[in-house]
Amino acid sequence: MTTITPTSLSNTTTMPKKTDLLALTLDQLKEWLKERNEPAFRAKQIYSWLYQQLVTDFAAMTNLPLSLRTRLEEEASIGPMIVRSEQHSKDDRTRKILLELADGKLVESVLMLYPPLGESSARATVCVSSQAGCAFGCTFCATGQMGFDRHLSSGEIVAQVLHFARELRTQAWSAPGLPGTTPIDHITNIVLMGMGEPLHNYNNVLQALRILNSPEGFNLGARHMTISTVGLAPAIRQLSQEKLQVNLAISLHAPTNELRGQTMPINKKYPLEELFAAIQEYIAVTRRQVTFEYVLLSGVNDTAQHAEQLARLLKPLQQFAHVNCIPVNATSASYSTPGPDAIRAFRNILFERGISNSVRAERGDDIAAACGQLRTRFENRVKKTGTELPVITPQA
Ligand code: SAH
Ligand code: SF4
Repeated sequence: MTTITPTSLSNTTTMPKKTDLLALTLDQLKEWLKERNEPAFRAKQIYSWLYQQLVTDFAAMTNLPLSLRTRLEEEASIGPMIVRSEQHSKDDRTRKILLELADGKLVESVLMLYPPLGESSARATVCVSSQAGCAFGCTFCATGQMGFDRHLSSGEIVAQVLHFARELRTQAWSAPGLPGTTPIDHITNIVLMGMGEPLHNYNNVLQALRILNSPEGFNLGARHMTISTVGLAPAIRQLSQEKLQVNLAISLHAPTNELRGQTMPINKKYPLEELFAAIQEYIAVTRRQVTFEYVLLSGVNDTAQHAEQLARLLKPLQQFAHVNCIPVNATSASYSTPGPDAIRAFRNILFERGISNSVRAERGDDIAAACGQLRTRFENRVKKTGTELPVITPQA
């Protein structure tokens, strides 16, 4: 059984420390109950209340004896955190929350809603944060510019998903103006693309995904989960050995060491040769396609020459590589988004060289969609007004 560190289980500000049940796998919950002389079958009942009924308090767990409910109130919690702000984009396809954790740290989570398109059914994807801040300092990234605060516990990661799951359960979403759309009332996908570097917080992230994968609980398939990484080569190798076969996305963003080193400091530690050796190994072990994220920065990494270099770099991976072109969400004056012609030209070169690719549709711009931007805005407002954490009014 995995050992749990006290920090991954406890609420750090209240005394006595309560166990966050959202940080526990089913087996760990059984163990926790056993230590309190409770039968193991109670764990399944509690799991069902937490992840299928999506309850937020122990009083609602009506098939548990009152004595156990009272004990749970005293000794356990269900992912405590405060929603500081919730914003919906004008088309309501993007919803973003700013969460305050038990120690006052702020993180963002985003829900992205997609109506059905052709063969593919409707999706509700949660973009989850894995850390408060980030240690890797990519120059185009708002989170990277904040520096690193701390890792999130597995319970804090799970809680972000449950927040939106509850919201959709309460009110299912349907695409306005699209006839025949079945309302979507549950989360279909999770992407670790919020604040922080998930593979830097490896154990807590994997634990959270295992909890969400549990058939007795939330029951979300590993194929519906994606970890995005800045390129921590040893952790990519480790991930290839996991039983939980989640999708992998690599933040590449430049086709040469020279250019990548300018925007992504991690490239000095794990240059492209080392990163690609780890990716080759990951593909050899898992036989799974890898997505390469490529943030397009106008005039920096989006020329025809860059596209040629990118195609050459990925060619050896053949059908196992897919490029996702992401027009940059400008966080500062230093970068701008290429126009549609430049994006088309870049993608055409990739297509001509046989590299499968797509472009991420821009969304949620009106609510500062790139992770880190909402917190940055929020904190700037606090600094400017000198007030304590103002709540931003959700947009219509
Ligand atoms: N740390 C991980 C996951 C979080 S970032 C990583 O770097 O992969 C998720 C994705 O958003 C990454 O591909 C990241 O490069 C990208 N991103 C960061 N800043 C962005 C911006 N301003 N515009 C568009 N994408 C951005
Ligand atoms: Fe961190 Fe990812 Fe942002 Fe880079 S892009 S600073 S790794 S969150």
